[in-house]
Amino acid sequence: MKAWEVVIGIETHAQLSTNAKIFSGSSTAFGAAPNVQANAVDIALPGVLPVLNKGAVECAIRFGLAVSAEIAPRSVFARKNYFYPDLPKGYQISQYELPVVLGGKLAIQLGETEKEVHLTRAHLEEDAGKSLHECLGPHFHGRSGIDLNRAGTPLLEIVTEPDMRSAAEAVAYAKALHALVRWIGICDGNMQEGSFRCDANVSVRPVGQTALGTRREIKNLNSFRFMQQAIDYEVQWQIATLEEGGTIEQATVLFDPAAGETRAMRSKEDAHDYRYFPDPDLLPLLIDRQWIAEIAAKMPELPAARRDRLVAEYGLSSYDAKILTTSLDLANYYEEAVASAGRSSTKACANWVIGDLAARLNKEDQELDQAPVSAEQLGGLVARIADGTISTNIARKVFDALWNRDGNSADEIIARQGLQQITDSGALETLIDELLAANATMVAEFRAGKEKAFNALVGQAMKATRGQANPQQVNELLRRKLG
Ligand code: ADP
Ligand code: MG
Repeated sequence: MKAWEVVIGIETHAQLSTNAKIFSGSSTAFGAAPNVQANAVDIALPGVLPVLNKGAVECAIRFGLAVSAEIAPRSVFARKNYFYPDLPKGYQISQYELPVVLGGKLAIQLGETEKEVHLTRAHLEEDAGKSLHECLGPHFHGRSGIDLNRAGTPLLEIVTEPDMRSAAEAVAYAKALHALVRWIGICDGNMQEGSFRCDANVSVRPVGQTALGTRREIKNLNSFRFMQQAIDYEVQWQIATLEEGGTIEQATVLFDPAAGETRAMRSKEDAHDYRYFPDPDLLPLLIDRQWIAEIAAKMPELPAARRDRLVAEYGLSSYDAKILTTSLDLANYYEEAVASAGRSSTKACANWVIGDLAARLNKEDQELDQAPVSAEQLGGLVARIADGTISTNIARKVFDALWNRDGNSADEIIARQGLQQITDSGALETLIDELLAANATMVAEFRAGKEKAFNALVGQAMKATRGQANPQQVNELLRRKLG
């Protein structure tokens, strides 16, 4: 049996976060009633003219800068001709021979190893409308409806070289790209709403062969899990087909999540089927160096640079730094927390953000920007652990209180609820004397060599002080008294 190599290239449609469409002034907001956000341009009334949205171009430039690509000084919009009911013009305005972004690369992480995925290009285009089949209620049973709200929504189509060698690499790339477009603020990344959709081109070839195998393109993968499942299925299907002596036909396929299978949708069309030609309604897009420089000056520090800085400046492990840079919000939250906790608590802040805070957000299904505990409040809490005012266990109670908005700061909650650690050794000694007197059996067991009895006594002391005794102090006092 031959060994097979998997080859994958990915095309991603990222919906750009502009308020208006790419060639008209209508809104791009999601979820409106059908066809209320489609004006004369979007529904393609005769005689209308497209006007390019500068904001969409700025998004493309930001992306190009973020992936070290070349920004074309001159690019051209082209008509891609095809018929479909949700495309009333009969063509989609896209870019073909001269795209706005050329080349570039994105680093992906696979466990400990890093790999660079090369980008071929990224081009601007408009989205089509939506066809809704048989889902309009009993009245419309068996019919289809067309919603043109999405028609003309700006997209950036980002195309990679066939650089990925497994489903895991494809998913790592898609995740890195998803994080990046959100980080630089050009796409909200909402996959359920279709703001970030990936097509995976998959082929296999015998190990050692340089020529690429015939690919099939899996369309519209709208979750990372589906991407993994679809590619896994497709790869084993292609290998099985070839090993049985069959051939792979180039095709466009759809993934059926319920069946866990990919199925051919149509044989793949070639570029010449679309009769691409420059759109005579739009002038070539000219981008001068000055504008690029202005946009570059406004770019945030990128995820990889931020990750390296968190390691260098805060002494974090690269693992922690990687998690903290999964989104710009999270990285900012962490650094704000450290700013109020103090530089001696960088690791503790990371633990709280990645641990308790993330778990709570996850449990309540909330995003970081809705978290009831601010970075400053969390930092204030960590500071009180660091200076010994409260133990980590008590801190969890204070965190709960902050989460439930029972107070404005850790200090206020600690003071009001009297949660400070008991560090007064006189008071502790009295308490321990009483404890030893009341637990003569445990004391005897300990003296007979049972270490367990000692732990039980520590537990009793912590319980008697509602967890507020300093555990280390309790330990020392007990050891001394028990000789
Ligand atoms: P199209 O525009 O027709 O979809 P492209 O040639 O632009 O085709 O390629 C689209 C994507 O498919 C790119 O990401 C490219 O890297 C990838 N690709 C091309 N050939 C193969 C192949 N044989 N196996 C896997 N991926 C491929
Ligand atoms: Mg394609």
